[in-house]
Amino acid sequence: MTSPHLEEVACNLCGGKRSRTLFERAYALESLSDCAATTDTFGHYGRIVRCVDCGFVYTNPRPTKEALLAGYGACVDETYLEEASSRSINAHLSLNVIKRFAKGGRLLEIGCATGYFLNAARVDFEVAGLEPSEWASKTARERFMLDVYSEPLDTCRFPSASFDVVVMIDVVEHLTDPKAALRCAANWLKPGGALYLVTPDIGSLSASLLGAAWWGLRPAHIAYFDRDTMRRMLEEAGFEVVLEKSFGRIFSWSYWASRLKNYPAFVHRAVLSFINLLDIADKPLYLDTRDSMEICARKR
Ligand SMILES: [Zn+2]
Repeated sequence: MTSPHLEEVACNLCGGKRSRTLFERAYALESLSDCAATTDTFGHYGRIVRCVDCGFVYTNPRPTKEALLAGYGACVDETYLEEASSRSINAHLSLNVIKRFAKGGRLLEIGCATGYFLNAARVDFEVAGLEPSEWASKTARERFMLDVYSEPLDTCRFPSASFDVVVMIDVVEHLTDPKAALRCAANWLKPGGALYLVTPDIGSLSASLLGAAWWGLRPAHIAYFDRDTMRRMLEEAGFEVVLEKSFGRIFSWSYWASRLKNYPAFVHRAVLSFINLLDIADKPLYLDTRDSMEICARKR
């Protein structure tokens, strides 16, 4: 899986083919774990370009859809389960926002991983999930008795207007055709239904300051949104944005520290020493680094 076949693609937002390179490194998915949510290898993300015509940022060339689907299908991420309590709390942070726009009904999560969000959401909603990883979808079904399907998005045949809410948390940046995925979500939503999504914000201050070393740049991320390109793609897919803000979340101190492995070693070591000194490795910490965006959009 070190050198997947790469293909040149056009801009997913406007169809343009003219772009300029922002960052360039060798591209490598070093192992299947690089497809995983908890990967801490950010380095080999390939060539990241900005469309000259519309400003959308994307990886080009990038692995084929078939290679990525095979990678996600086979992905096993036991580390994901280690932060179970944090992930459940984060689910409630999202649900507090979602419930401002939808009080109940049917909810679909696209990319539901092992089902922590859906398990929390079932208090208020009748829930279902889509998840390409065989391991994650099986875990969600067995652990939480959830209805989780592992079909690809574009072959999945939910009836039109059959959901009140569609959720995509840390998903859209992984997709080869995000616009088609958003149109799928619009089709499955009832008129007035809510789409909730979270994705890294390449227009954020930390993305600008960290440049090529920003955590959001990684081999599994192939579509990079800022607030403007996200809004335009949502509008073209049939949505009206009704909420847009930065998104923070809770993890243990040791998990946050593990995210620093790609930064200078002295930074990582200093943080680990601080954590050990105060004995807070397993204590939760809420952080909003202002470089993930949380969006709610209504289907028009
Ligand atoms: Zn474009």
